[in-house]
Order: sequence, then structure tokens, then C-alpha cells
Amino acid sequence: MTAHSILIIGAGIVGASIAHRLSKTGATVTLVDSAEAAGLGVSAASFGWITCAAGDPGLADEVYRQRLQAIEDYAALDQEFGSRLCAPCKGAIVWGADEDETRDWADRHAKKGSTVWLIGAAEFSELEPMIAQPPAIAACFPREKAVDVGHACVMLVRAARDNGARILLGQKVLGIEAKAGRVTGVRLDGQVIAADHVIVAAGAGSAGIVEGFMPGHGISTSPSALVTLGVDAGRLSHVLEGGGIEIRSRANGDLIAACAVDHGQDDRVSADLASDVLSKVRRLFPGMDNPRVEKVEIGQRPVLAEGRPLVASARGLEGLCLAVAHPGVILAPEISRQVAELLGY
Ligand SMILES: Cc1cc2nc3c(=O)[nH]c(=O)nc-3n(C[C@H](O)[C@H](O)[C@H](O)COP(=O)(O)OP(=O)(O)OC[C@H]3O[C@@H](n4cnc5c(N)ncnc54)[C@H](O)[C@@H]3O)c2cc1C
Repeated sequence: MTAHSILIIGAGIVGASIAHRLSKTGATVTLVDSAEAAGLGVSAASFGWITCAAGDPGLADEVYRQRLQAIEDYAALDQEFGSRLCAPCKGAIVWGADEDETRDWADRHAKKGSTVWLIGAAEFSELEPMIAQPPAIAACFPREKAVDVGHACVMLVRAARDNGARILLGQKVLGIEAKAGRVTGVRLDGQVIAADHVIVAAGAGSAGIVEGFMPGHGISTSPSALVTLGVDAGRLSHVLEGGGIEIRSRANGDLIAACAVDHGQDDRVSADLASDVLSKVRRLFPGMDNPRVEKVEIGQRPVLAEGRPLVASARGLEGLCLAVAHPGVILAPEISRQVAELLGY
């Protein structure tokens, strides 16, 4: 075993970001995922909005700063990947129930450090010609980004592999190996992989992996739905949130809408979400050609108990570290930075 061999469990956006960052430092990195490809966990069903605008401007200053930093981090990553990591997107446009609410939202976000300005209906129509009846006032956040998250995971993992990381897909981690209060590796089906450090970035699967080692890990899950619509022609240039919908275009032209799920997750719920999103799209964007629901995915977002750090080391077991957070796409670059710092890279 070489010094500082690092094994990351999970090739979702969090694990992929960690692997990508660490692989650039010359560290010995192994990334393991039970799925046959990167980014097939909840990351695949993510809306992928890198945003401050979607959140309450009343967020704690430090949390808000992390989100502002995330926007810069994704801009830098996109540049590193030749403008192919982020989805084509000119920012976000958000509007409230009335003008006062929109003005107040924009004002409070500006005070927190967001770049935001108000636009009128005519300018909105110029920016988004597909919209039928733009609100009189909307808040434009031109720096905000969008990421097709499954695709971003694949790119980050490929880059990590090109930097020398070992990528093991289709291999489930069955347990953590430890000796004398130190992690020694992980157990897969039929083999043990030795490592000095094990980073658990397995999203909702992390709780099961750290169960015996990190009591009170604070991980739970919360459902959210992504509705994907195919359209024959017409696309949005911004992430839009208003009129009861959060929607954007993917790089491949599909429309995606994120929806809250608050009453069960059966087929009936999926059918209701699909018809709700479809009727809103028809009403708000009548020029979208032949919109039809392709898919409704209900993903389990890993969430952490209030106050838990984004990156936590196990007490009493050196070398084991948990990297789970919500919202995970926004926070992935920050988590990867914290893991690198923790390991001294
Ligand atoms: C509808 C919806 C909209 C969302 N919108 C946003 C948004 O706009 N912005 C935002 O920041 N976040 C958003 N989120 C949340 C975001 O998607 C998640 O926080 C993020 O994708 C979590 O990434 P992850 O890498 O932690 O988990 P995952 O993507 O689930 O990755 C974990 C990986 O670990 C692997 N794994 C699990 N157990 C094992 C094991 N034992 N052995 C090996 N591998 C294992 C899994 O196969 C998986 O690939 C949204 C989520 C949903 C559902």
C-alpha cells in the first residue's frame, strides 16, 4: 500500500468532484461505484441549478457565501472542460406572486452579494421569447449556472481517470476494513482494496456504510421529483422559477422541471406531477412544439441533520471520512475542497 492511498465510495457529483480534484494533485486515488456508470444515483435525477436565487436570502452569511462561491467554481470548471461541463444557460430569472415580492426578493439577494437586476416584461420577452405572458417585473440573476448532473459526473470521472485515478464501476462496497483504530481499506465482493483514507460519498447509501463507525451520522433522505419533457422545437435560455414552476432546458433540448413531493411516491403521484407540469408548460410556453412527458423520476436526496459539517471525520477510526451534503450539486466543489484540505492536498 502506498502512502496516502485514497479510496472514494460513490461516483455521483460529490464523489466525482472529489476524485477529480484529488487526482490533479498526484494523490493515489481509487473511485468505486456499485453502478455500471458514473452519475446514476440521485445525481441523474437532479435539476442541477447552481443557485443562490432559489434559496431564501435569509440564509446564514457563511452558507450564502458557499453558494456564491459554487457559481464561481462551476464557471471555472466549465472553462477547464472547454465549456462542456455546464449546460448552455444564460443565468436564472425568478419572479414572485406580485411585484412587491419580486422586488423584495431581488433586493435581499443583492444585499447578500448576488448579481441581480430587475427586468420588465418587454425585456423578459426578448430574453425568453417562448414565454406567453411575462410578469411585469422579474429578477434576473445572470451569473447562475445549470448542470446536466449525470453528464457532469461522467466528465469529471473521465478526467480523474486520465489523471491516473483507478475507476472501479459495478463494484459494491460491502464494508469498511479497519485495524487498530485505523481504516485499512474496503471490502468488495471477493476482494479487499487497501487504502489509507476512505471517503464515503455514497449519497443516500452512505448511512448504511458508516453505520457501525459513525453513530449519529445524521443522514436521512428527502424525496423530490424531476419531470422530463421532450419537445420537437423550442428551448429556454435561462433557468426559470415563477408561475408555480421551476424549469430549464437541458443541453439535449429536453425540458426539465423540479417538483416538490409531499404526499407519497406512487404511480398516482407521478401521473399527477406529469399532467401538472405538462399543463403549465402548455400555458406558459405555448410556442414549445409538441411537449410530452418522457419521464418522472422521484429521487431520494441525501440530507444532513442541521449543523452537521459537509465533511466529517469518524471519531475513533482514523482515515474514515463522510462527505454528504444538501444541496449536493451546489456544494460538491466546496466538499471536494474541504476533503483535499483535510487530507493535506
Ligand atoms: C428532483 C431533484 C432536484 C434537485 N435539484 C438540485 C439542484 O437544483 N441543485 C442541487 O445542488 N441539488 C439538487 N438536488 C439534490 C442533488 O441531486 C443531490 O444532493 C446530489 O446529486 C447528491 O449527490 P451524491 O454524489 O451525494 O449522491 P448520488 O448521486 O446518489 O451518488 C452516490 C453514488 O454512490 C453509489 N453507491 C451507493 N452505495 C454504494 C456502495 N455500497 N458501494 C459503491 N457505490 C455505492 C451510488 O451508486 C451512487 O452513484 C436535486 C435532487 C432531486 C431529486
